[in-house]
Amino acid sequence: MQVDYIIVGQGICGSFLSHELIKAGRSVLVIDESKPFSSTKVASGVINPITGRRMVRTWEIETLMPYAVAAYQAWGEELGVELIRQCNILDFHPTPQMVLAFAERQPFEQEYLRHPQNPDQWKQFFTYDFTIGEVDPCWLIDLHTLLDKWRASLQAQQILREDAFVLEECQITREAVRYQDIQAQKIIFCDGVAGFNNPYFKNLPYARNKGQALIVRIPDLPRSNIFKQSFTLVPWREDLFWVGSTYEWNFTDTNPSPDFRNKAEAHLQHWVKLPFETLDHLAAERPANMERRPFVGLHPVTTSVGLFNGMGTKGCSLSPYFATEFANYLVHGTPILPQADVRRFTKILSR
Ligand SMILES: Cc1cc2nc3c(=O)[nH]c(=O)nc-3n(C[C@H](O)[C@H](O)[C@H](O)COP(=O)(O)OP(=O)(O)OC[C@H]3O[C@@H](n4cnc5c(N)ncnc54)[C@H](O)[C@@H]3O)c2cc1C
Repeated sequence: MQVDYIIVGQGICGSFLSHELIKAGRSVLVIDESKPFSSTKVASGVINPITGRRMVRTWEIETLMPYAVAAYQAWGEELGVELIRQCNILDFHPTPQMVLAFAERQPFEQEYLRHPQNPDQWKQFFTYDFTIGEVDPCWLIDLHTLLDKWRASLQAQQILREDAFVLEECQITREAVRYQDIQAQKIIFCDGVAGFNNPYFKNLPYARNKGQALIVRIPDLPRSNIFKQSFTLVPWREDLFWVGSTYEWNFTDTNPSPDFRNKAEAHLQHWVKLPFETLDHLAAERPANMERRPFVGLHPVTTSVGLFNGMGTKGCSLSPYFATEFANYLVHGTPILPQADVRRFTKILSR
């Protein structure tokens, strides 16, 4: 079998990149070992333009968010499903200090921060002592539908291998790649945290970050918004909500921890006035990095090997834009944004 590109991994990165390359008329083969707790499968799927306690805009959001919204809408139409909907965050300020911080910041971020209409309507659902701030617009991606539908499409096109890729069994020269019966011009790794040990890219400043979430049923809670107060409640499938998350830099295993479950349930009992039932507890590692910028592009020495990784907490907003940039680079040679291009690490990757 001869293809232009082997793509390892079908998380959000491998999905977008394979889709872009096919749209550009290139042939791909995707190799993905389906694992239940990959980062994309555990993620809540939120695109939030405002970040942190200081409530500042996330990097390049003015470009990334409109691009992502259009990309999910177009891909959803192509797949015959809705992949994205607007779902603003309602931030229930937990302290008077946060009320003040929001009031001070809001005049400078009027494009994204506002006071919600009819804030008292939420009194029937939540217990809260202070005001609510709204982040508008935020977007919610249906990641499971995206992964499932694209996987089915790859299967129908007979360009998916559901298998573990083994690097030691791959022959790589600067000109070409050979793996089992497949010959390709290039191989692109979209394998998330599994790729941190890849000898071609292991010197990059990767950082593992563990996140956990509960899946709870709250039948009568409106699904119009994402609700936030220390924990975030995100509409999930059917009448379920995703409750998360942690940002753990030091951890000894990637399993769900009883401590997180206890804290999250205690908070919900205090905050949500409706009965809830916990159905599941998920955990995964985010493929983060010290720079908080993605890793996109070809290895500076072995140019038949590429990387699309390092999305950290922002895979939903970063991957659509940079998949297009990467595909355009591969097909037309147009440059990748220097802050994202993996060649900013040429020195350490050449060692
Ligand atoms: C709790 C949590 C909440 C999050 N919430 C959000 C959010 O709301 N918004 C947001 O934008 N981001 C969020 N993220 C981050 C987001 O999930 C990641 O940025 C993104 O999913 C990374 O995607 P990826 O494709 O790089 O990796 P992954 O999703 O991990 O995909 C890698 C794929 O490669 C496959 N693979 C790996 N090695 C091999 C191999 N050797 N052979 C074959 N297949 C292989 C894996 O099975 C997997 O399918 C969250 C993450 C977590 C953990």
